[in-house]
Amino acid sequence: MNLRRKIAVLGSTGSIGRQTLDIISEYPEKFEAYLLVAHNSADLLTEQAIKYRPKKVIIANEAHYRKVSEALSGKGIEVLAGDDAVAAAVRDPEIDTVVTAMVGYSGLVPTINAIEAGKKIALANKETMVVAGDLVNRLLKKSESVIYPVDSEHGAFYQCLMGEERKNVSKLILTASGGPFRQTPKDKLGQVRAADALRHPNWAMGAKITIDSATMMNKGFEMLEAKWLFDVSHEDIEIVVHPQSIVHSMVEFVDGSIKAQLGLPDMHLPIRFALGLPGRLASNSRKMTIADYANLTFEKPDYEKFPLLTAARTAAERGGNAACVMNAANEIAVAAFLRDKIGFLRIAEIIEETMEKVAFVANPTLDDYVASNAEARAFAETLL
Ligand code: MG
Repeated sequence: MNLRRKIAVLGSTGSIGRQTLDIISEYPEKFEAYLLVAHNSADLLTEQAIKYRPKKVIIANEAHYRKVSEALSGKGIEVLAGDDAVAAAVRDPEIDTVVTAMVGYSGLVPTINAIEAGKKIALANKETMVVAGDLVNRLLKKSESVIYPVDSEHGAFYQCLMGEERKNVSKLILTASGGPFRQTPKDKLGQVRAADALRHPNWAMGAKITIDSATMMNKGFEMLEAKWLFDVSHEDIEIVVHPQSIVHSMVEFVDGSIKAQLGLPDMHLPIRFALGLPGRLASNSRKMTIADYANLTFEKPDYEKFPLLTAARTAAERGGNAACVMNAANEIAVAAFLRDKIGFLRIAEIIEETMEKVAFVANPTLDDYVASNAEARAFAETLL
């Protein structure tokens, strides 16, 4: 009998998707790659399909369907295309866990489908919680689905909270590397280009999240993600800059004690943790030598230099569709910055302006989120 857990990897060709496949192949007796989904990377998806032999692959962009299906013909792998195919495939009763590793807002609907189908979710797509955390939490209450965070900070919170009563938690302390511009003076930020921002000091990640890290929007997103995942007010989430990225986050308790989770800055660790729950997976991967890290430092973030930290707090206070609008504007601004169409400081301005102008919806439904996302993207485009 095959007792291996069947895993769907949405976004298998991205940084988290590729590392998830590393973990799946580290434990061939426990896991099986069952469904791989990519948006545009047809060649890599084909390569992965030949290597990991999933039951199905889906290329979301239908323009690449023919290429993928021809390359995989006769291999016994079902090839599908389009977003509707993704929506249907995540409901497959064979699937145990859905790893959501797609980029940005596009993760929302497939994650909701997986929740409705009662799947375990290894959540790497933080934007799902940023955009619609309240809706996701309402759906989770009606479903057997559970969410295990893949984000390293949230994996740390999860581990620090294990065995603790929620009433004893006084504060979450979210660590941030500070990104590539931590030591760049504010008046120099106007001149930085995408290539500078893409040089992250500690973490190798996709382009979008690397820019989010440079603006610290990523940390604002993670504050919102933590608020919804762990049911805490944003006022009880402190952000602290920790340039070494060894302490992945901390929890403070009512007695003044603080628990921290430490590890190397390697996304394989939180992925292995999320896939291993409720247990832990033993690994021969490189362990951290604590004596090599004599200097772990912590400092307050610079809210003047990184205004998107404040924008995220504003979105948390306003609630409703505010964070959805912020996220949409960020996606447009970051894409423009990556094309060298706008300067670095313009990213925050576009987001702030869009948040002022797009209509506020207090209790959004999924349709409202879809509409707010479209409206905010269209408005932000006019500012480029
Ligand atoms: Mg993170």
